[in-house]
Amino acid sequence: MNLVILGAAGSGKGTQAKLLTREFDLNYLEMGEMLRDFAASDHPLAQTANEYIDRGELVPEELTQEIIWEHIQKLDKTKGFLFDGYPRTVEQYEHLKELLAKLGQKPDKVIYLEVSEVAAIKRLSARRMHQKTGQIYNLITNPPPLSVDKSDLIQRDDDKPAAIKKRLEIFRKETFPVVELAKKEGVLLELDGERPIGEIFAEIKAQVKE
Ligand code: AMP
Repeated sequence: MNLVILGAAGSGKGTQAKLLTREFDLNYLEMGEMLRDFAASDHPLAQTANEYIDRGELVPEELTQEIIWEHIQKLDKTKGFLFDGYPRTVEQYEHLKELLAKLGQKPDKVIYLEVSEVAAIKRLSARRMHQKTGQIYNLITNPPPLSVDKSDLIQRDDDKPAAIKKRLEIFRKETFPVVELAKKEGVLLELDGERPIGEIFAEIKAQVKE
């Protein structure tokens, strides 16, 4: 089974994606993380990628296409995939369908977590990353344990107000059309993302198993 999870920044899609990966024993592909690793590498295009990410803009298509395929090839293809943060445009969605078709597969469900912009901004502004481990916390909903030194917590550049605004705008313009297309195709699973994590997870689990 192959799942795609869509949602604006701050929709909680990463949290649900990790729970679903465990529940259904899937390969997890998180594009944001793959791109941050790429941006920190010594690849000649790393700095370019970093600039897009810091501004909250989409990294060029050729780069995401290469990175996603490279990762898919390394994974266990007897298991399904969960795509988080990819696709973010209709072009990427079409590309993903082509890649899966090469493996004789398709996206089975496209999960969309809907949250208001106000909720997304509130969640993202409270998000902090542990500099050494990359672990993400939320000062309101998922605070770090007392053992974590607060000075090691940083706010990602793209979680700052100007970049948040840009990311939400890109979601509306570029990613929302993917939601509409998946609906037309009959594979969309749309959920209210402003409820407790466990409640959302239970609903996705029930619907995906159907
Ligand atoms: P995320 O951690 O999913 O919020 O992604 C962080 C940043 O990585 C985004 O704001 C973009 O700059 C970049 N990025 C992530 N996924 C994609 C994608 N599918 N296409 C282009 N850029 C992406």
